[in-house]
Amino acid sequence: MIADSLLESAHRLVAAHLFDGATAIDGTVGNGHDTRFLAQAVGAKGRVLGFDVQVEALEKTRQLLHVHALSVDVRLFHEGHERLAARLAAEGITQIDAAMFNLGYLPGSDKRCTTRPDTTLVALQAALAHLAEGGVLTAMLYHGHSGADDEAEAVLAWARALPRRPWQATMIQPLQSPQAPTLLVVTR
Ligand code: SAH
Repeated sequence: MIADSLLESAHRLVAAHLFDGATAIDGTVGNGHDTRFLAQAVGAKGRVLGFDVQVEALEKTRQLLHVHALSVDVRLFHEGHERLAARLAAEGITQIDAAMFNLGYLPGSDKRCTTRPDTTLVALQAALAHLAEGGVLTAMLYHGHSGADDEAEAVLAWARALPRRPWQATMIQPLQSPQAPTLLVVTR
């Protein structure tokens, strides 16, 4: 599936910016695949902070990490990613090396529990504000479901307006599938 291979592309891109001891954010824990990837990529001395507004997502992810015997410092928060800046301050974290967002709703769960442009933009801005030099932010943007196009457009407009220094914003868009998600990559 296109979305799956795009997710793999996101993982490869992000992995290139991570190292043992890095700090990474999963802004939308969902089914936990990005959290799990990040937990592996930051090494034993790294840490991952994950956010989701659905308790089930966090529970499933805890199990996934357990099954894969990942004992990295993973802190999962049952709160919206719009609280990212406050949460980083509370955890005493001033810089992050990577932040991943996978927007929309969790397949198979409540479709109303979807990310929203206003809170998404607050979270993306907070993530960029804390991004270390050499760091990376990714956002998977979906099309088609109710509200998705508006959110994707709002995020892309935000990214287009970022100053070229120090940010480089790029998007990956599969061309042969009109409904395929867009992967936004911002590096510093
Ligand atoms: N669309 C993707 C999955 C996205 S999962 C796919 O098809 O694979 C998006 C996750 O974001 C969901 O688990 C949802 O609960 C969560 N979410 C919604 N609003 C949020 C917010 N404000 N902060 C953090 N997570 C949020």
